[in-house]
Amino acid sequence: MSENLKKRIAILGSTGSIGRQTLDVCSQHPDMFQVEMLTANTSSALLIEQALKFDPNCVVICDSSKYQEVFDALDPHGIKVFSGIESVEELVKGDNIDIVLTAMVGFAGLRPTLAAIKAGKTIALANKETLVAAGSLVTQLAAKYHAPILPVDSEHSAIFQCLHCGSQHEVEKLVLTCSGGPFRQKSREEVFNATVEQALAHPKWNMGAKITVDSASLMNKGLEIIEAKWLFGMQPEEIEVVIHPESIIHSMVRFRDGAIIAQLSDPDMRIPIQFALAYPGRLELDTARTDFPALGSMSFFAPDPERFPCLQLAYKALQKGGNTACAMNAANEVAVAAFLQQKIAFGQIPEVIDYAMSRTSFVADPQLEDIFETNAEAERIAKACLN
Ligand code: MG
Repeated sequence: MSENLKKRIAILGSTGSIGRQTLDVCSQHPDMFQVEMLTANTSSALLIEQALKFDPNCVVICDSSKYQEVFDALDPHGIKVFSGIESVEELVKGDNIDIVLTAMVGFAGLRPTLAAIKAGKTIALANKETLVAAGSLVTQLAAKYHAPILPVDSEHSAIFQCLHCGSQHEVEKLVLTCSGGPFRQKSREEVFNATVEQALAHPKWNMGAKITVDSASLMNKGLEIIEAKWLFGMQPEEIEVVIHPESIIHSMVRFRDGAIIAQLSDPDMRIPIQFALAYPGRLELDTARTDFPALGSMSFFAPDPERFPCLQLAYKALQKGGNTACAMNAANEVAVAAFLQQKIAFGQIPEVIDYAMSRTSFVADPQLEDIFETNAEAERIAKACLN
């Protein structure tokens, strides 16, 4: 493929787990993908290392106290260096970028994602909080500006792949699989009093701290139900969650004739990442090939709402609609941070979320300013609840 046909990629959050794996995919297909922009929150040393290897047009270090260090390292190599989240919002609009992979953590990913959508970029969405907080707005703007949103989350990538087997009106149910996290077999008391160390020891996926805690509480699956609603235009009752500890089936679609299409592989995030970047094609990838005889069997269980109330909170937020999911997400970010700082017990995470969610002012049809206001209000209420 000639130089000008390469897909030019911006990676927002390149030093995190998804960002690093995206660079691994890019390095396996240098003839297909060109890395144009990298951004990091505070990890300056890794950002420098990545930039020296991939030679992007520019990088952004959001933490301005690290700017000089990054500038001194990269400026001699002709790589432009910027700081601050506003720079990310500005640079994603550049004519030199085709695909924006959004892997920033949490609500902070919303503004840069919206900027990229308004510039008509293809969005490879790895920041689920964007759709949870502002799904209605984000999908409306994506349609208006003809910005395709391709899922990177493994479950949604699986569903997206399965949907190629039928038409939208033939879909009866989306079945999201869930590993169950590290506390799947723990008692109610053990789950409630789980330590930070226990919560961060995920059995199947190696990820950042926030999403790992979300996976342990099943809030990650709650966020994914909401993400699925917006990505695929489904009603809450059309989205089911099933616990599948082996994490081989990444999700399924049931069609109206009862036929179920599933997407399978050994767990490896580079598959959904590469599927989004290469879409509509498929490229080679050096993943482990699933060995079915070695696997032997796969198991499935219903989620337990008693031990894992977060999943029900997400369904509740979807049913209520409006800005409720945004409030839930904000409260979850506060609660997870408090848990990681050992200020609250693991079992208090859903209590903080429920408290803040039910007290945040309801807005039926939130616009952008309402989303930011809701996020701030729910954060305030959640922080007050901690004390
Ligand atoms: Mg996922």
